[in-house]
Amino acid sequence: MRKFFLCLLLLLIPSHAWAQGKVPILVYHFIDEFKGLGSKELYVTPENFEKQIRYLREHGFTLLPFERWQDIDKVNKPIFITFDDGYKNNLKAFDIFQKLRTEQFQPTGTIFVISDFIGQSIRLSESDIKKMVDSGIISIQSHTATHPDLTKIKDYDYELRKSKEKIQKITGKPVIALSYPYGNWNNKVVMETRKYYRFGLTTTPEAFTKKGIKDELYLLPRIYVKYSTTLDDFAKIVEGD
Ligand SMILES: [Zn+2]
Repeated sequence: MRKFFLCLLLLLIPSHAWAQGKVPILVYHFIDEFKGLGSKELYVTPENFEKQIRYLREHGFTLLPFERWQDIDKVNKPIFITFDDGYKNNLKAFDIFQKLRTEQFQPTGTIFVISDFIGQSIRLSESDIKKMVDSGIISIQSHTATHPDLTKIKDYDYELRKSKEKIQKITGKPVIALSYPYGNWNNKVVMETRKYYRFGLTTTPEAFTKKGIKDELYLLPRIYVKYSTTLDDFAKIVEGD
């Protein structure tokens, strides 16, 4: 009888919950052709990006924003797509999300912008941000005000609070997540981040698994998708092989 209930229980639990419990959080920078500006590995071409999102669509992933963190245990194959630095070419990712959207598949992503850099020529403008947020497809979160190494500064109020307020003023939506510039953090940085945010994103290259440790939501790991990442590599990253 006990065995019967155990089997019943296993049938009721969504497969991902016991299969692995791993949640990949991906990080991108430029969604563009590489034309010589900056490091090539920080680019993913729009063509490759589209193939990757199609892969997620075909393999039953649910793309979540951090506002829906509580749903990681409820949806099929949860995954987070993030972009750092707020480059203008992230509009291409937005277009691809719109193009691949269906009733079943509602892609969402999170762009971490540097609030003092909004509107610079290679960065997103206030109207770009407004347009993406209003679509419900993109969430705009903070990557600080000026992109300092947070382990080396004193003025956390400016970098963390002011940047959050500035972004909220543009989007009209709560800013709840911070990605640490260069992925750098220490205990002081986590303590300061806690005052204003619910999530802190590092660049520790692994999928998230709940360990129940203190501050785990302020040490969220993220996996880079690079120029050289093939679709096979991508599949391995997201399936957790
Ligand atoms: Zn950055």
